[in-house]
Amino acid sequence: MATRRKRNKVTTVGRRATIRTILRCGMLSFALCLPFLAMAAASPGLETLLQQAEEARSSDPHRFQRLLGELEQQIDRADKAQREQIEYLRAYGFSFRGHYDEAIRHARALMESSTNPEIQFRAGALIVNTHALRRQFTDGLRQLEQTLTLVDKIQSAKLRHHGLGVASYLYNQVGQYRLGLRYADRILEEEPDARTLCFANQARFDSLYNLGELPSDDDIVVEAINQCDASHETVTANGIRLILAKKWAESNRRKQAIALMDGHLKEIEETGYTHLIAQVKAFLAELLLDAGEYAAAETYANESLAQNTPGSTSSLASAYKTMYQIAEARKDSETALVYYRRYAEADRAYLNEVKARELAYQMVRQEILEKSQQIQRLDSQNQLLKLQRKVEKQAGQNTRLIIILLVVLLATIAYWAYKTKRVQVSLKHLAETDALTGICNRHHFTQSAGRTLSQCERNGEEVAVIMFDLDHFKSINDRFGHPAGDWVLKQVAQVCQSLCRRIDVLGRLGGEEFAMLMYGCDLRSAIRLAEDCRTRIASIDTSEIGQRIQVTASFGVTSTAISGYVLQRLLSDADRMLYQSKAQGRNRVTAFRAASQDDGEASHTPGASWTEVAETQGARPG
Ligand code: GH3
Ligand code: MG
Ligand code: MG
Repeated sequence: MATRRKRNKVTTVGRRATIRTILRCGMLSFALCLPFLAMAAASPGLETLLQQAEEARSSDPHRFQRLLGELEQQIDRADKAQREQIEYLRAYGFSFRGHYDEAIRHARALMESSTNPEIQFRAGALIVNTHALRRQFTDGLRQLEQTLTLVDKIQSAKLRHHGLGVASYLYNQVGQYRLGLRYADRILEEEPDARTLCFANQARFDSLYNLGELPSDDDIVVEAINQCDASHETVTANGIRLILAKKWAESNRRKQAIALMDGHLKEIEETGYTHLIAQVKAFLAELLLDAGEYAAAETYANESLAQNTPGSTSSLASAYKTMYQIAEARKDSETALVYYRRYAEADRAYLNEVKARELAYQMVRQEILEKSQQIQRLDSQNQLLKLQRKVEKQAGQNTRLIIILLVVLLATIAYWAYKTKRVQVSLKHLAETDALTGICNRHHFTQSAGRTLSQCERNGEEVAVIMFDLDHFKSINDRFGHPAGDWVLKQVAQVCQSLCRRIDVLGRLGGEEFAMLMYGCDLRSAIRLAEDCRTRIASIDTSEIGQRIQVTASFGVTSTAISGYVLQRLLSDADRMLYQSKAQGRNRVTAFRAASQDDGEASHTPGASWTEVAETQGARPG
């Protein structure tokens, strides 16, 4: 029972594989039938030669070889595109003659050196085909993946279809029928030319047959066969025919299947395609064996084996199997054993190859997956780096922003501090200055004088105080008006200020009364200065205000040597001397003198030891 199941399984695998082997020939024909691609024509002679070589390469190998030799001799006259085309043909020639390593080396060098995607695609497809021909499916699939990335750049529909066809055939070869179908359908969607249509249909029906999805309507398949016949693609037409016959055989239409393949056997033999002939004959042998026609089955099986096709083909296993079953049916156990051994060996070799092909696909798929994962990983690393750079940039911008904000803040604070300082200064100035005359007001004078006195007392320096009051000022106001009085007050302040040093203090104590504190000044010098002031005041020219006003002032002078360093005492002593000046007729200077000073005995102890002696100077001008 188990043996029977295995036998059935082997039969199905064998039948399907028959199709695949034929399709491998189909793939070769796909490569051989690649249409000539028009290249830039720089040298007309060379161009004709190239065209002839392209046409001859699949139909007339000897002529092609000769033309290739001529092209190689003239390579110096070729432009870049022609040179690349010659290089392609050279690689093709190697592949055609079975020099696969040379073919791959040349095609790869061309792919790497060329910048033309079409020539790269063409060379890539040749490498794929060459790997497939030597049954290196892993390398073929790797190259296919790489070549297919170029497909969208390919302008020429024929070349594009060629690449897609190679993909479809190769995927079918490695048992990836769904992929094979997808690429065949892609070609068919683009309405290819008649020959390409024929090859694409073959690939499509091969995929569908192996997927068990062949259309139930045979007319569709028959139509494809007819289309191939019309295009004189006999190998491909019969490849599809074999698929149809297999379908019929599996649905108990064996006679029909035999008739179909038998009817075209002569034509198939005429193609000289050993693979196809071997497959068809092995298939017919199987069917005839089932029908009990042992003699005919034996003939076909022997003829199939006689094709001696290289590689581990399913037709070989199938033919040996038929032979052993015939011998078994004839009770010739010795012969049966011999064929059974051969069959088992061929079948194992074939199944191993099928497995190896499928493994090749899985390996390449895994590689691609890993590569894409690696790309994804690199991509996310890249994203991360970009993000980091963005964050760093943002941080830089933030730092700049903070610096700008700090600068603005500092500038604002500095401006605010400056403004505040100015307001303070101006307020201080306002608080310290007499608004009318611009000299110190009473309060500021008192403070400054107090400080000066303390300092001078510490240093043992003498300070003099001069007080003066304008004479009959009320009458000036009364006679010339208050503004005139104000003007006079300003003039007096100006005149006296001009006689003071920077270290001296001049203040308006109130109304028309002023005081001067003279730093480091003794009484005598103070008297001289008071006299100067008196003279200058008396000579104030009032013509500016359009009046003739005689301005005079009465002065009282004292110094720390007499009155001590207490301001109040100094002011009071000076004030008393001022009133003495008033009393003695005004416009004069009266100094406070100690009696002992007159005797030349001056004591610096302020207070009691001093007696008040008035000394007046000056007189009211007449
Ligand atoms: P005496 O010689 O005795 O000092 O006589 P006097 O008139 O100067 O003295 P009195 O004290 O009688 O008058 C002072 C006048 O000074 C009274 C007041 O109107 C005037 N006066 C005080 N302050 C100002 C001021 O700021 N501007 C003006 N124009 N006059 C003022
Ligand atoms: Mg007065
Ligand atoms: Mg007065």
